[in-house]
Amino acid sequence: MHRKAHLPCKLCPVCLRNFVWRKKWQRCWEEVIYCSQRCRATKKSTLNKTSTTGQSSHRRR
Ligand SMILES: [Zn+2]
Repeated sequence: MHRKAHLPCKLCPVCLRNFVWRKKWQRCWEEVIYCSQRCRATKKSTLNKTSTTGQSSHRRR
């Protein structure tokens, strides 16, 4: 009878959901904060909320 190792989990501050350890995080698990890149980007945009709205950037090179 095999016993599954208990995987550590964290709480994502953006979507407020628990996400479990993944193999891709095995080297940087302690630095992982968000469950996904999307949440990471969401958090970023939330912080930028104070910037003026309606200002579209046309900078494209
Ligand atoms: Zn999340």
